[in-house]
Amino acid sequence: MKADPGQKKLPGKLLFVSLMGVTCILIAGVIALLWWIQNTGLAGINPLLPTISGITLGLLAAAVLLGTVLLLLTTALGKDILFTRFLRGIVIKFLFPLIEFIGKLIGIQRDTIRQSFIAMNNSLVLSQKILVKADRVLILLPHCIQLFDCEIKVTGAISKCARCGRCDIKGISELGEKYQIDISVATGGTLARKIITEKRPKLVVAVACEGDLTSGIKDCYPLPVLGILNDRPFGPCYNTRVETPKIDDALKLVLG
Ligand code: SF4
Repeated sequence: MKADPGQKKLPGKLLFVSLMGVTCILIAGVIALLWWIQNTGLAGINPLLPTISGITLGLLAAAVLLGTVLLLLTTALGKDILFTRFLRGIVIKFLFPLIEFIGKLIGIQRDTIRQSFIAMNNSLVLSQKILVKADRVLILLPHCIQLFDCEIKVTGAISKCARCGRCDIKGISELGEKYQIDISVATGGTLARKIITEKRPKLVVAVACEGDLTSGIKDCYPLPVLGILNDRPFGPCYNTRVETPKIDDALKLVLG
């Protein structure tokens, strides 16, 4: 199997997986602590209450640990073992903010955590072995991929590109033509959401920076999104680049 499209970029998914393991052990620890704190008070109300709350909290802690083990196995083996789609939702909606917070506490940069999150998300999406027809896949690009000085504005219709080759829009247009895939260029998160609502794809291959990809993956869930980070040789939001073969690799993995 080919590498995940977001995996080549350091730091890879391992960092996020490790942080996730630590976070889930901490959650289980907090649950145990809660049980210990309330144990004395509950016994005074009814002698059965500590047992009932102990079983409830024990089941909760077991679910957290089991979920973590499943996610770790899914990521390591690249196979959909059990509930991968549901677990991806738990990571995206609940665990990610906590993991980001813990990562920052121990001095890991936010963008590094986000890069690793994107790699982890790609790994989970690919583990589901989703195969989609070309007409149900959408390539979503940020407008900063287009050369700033280009007189043709491709937002809304990438087919207008004259393919002069001064920016990566040319290569991506050719890729879209090769696979007969829809490509949209969005000027921001609001337009990206509108495009997705209108086009109703079954899978999105999105190119963007760490922040936009992270929020896009969260907003789109449960729609599967494969994230590919752009390069910013001139700083953010200006003449950004993307390695077109990474988009090609992602498409080959999901096109049925
Ligand atoms: S490839 Fe050329 S024509 Fe197309 S968007 Fe880039 S600069 Fe403009």
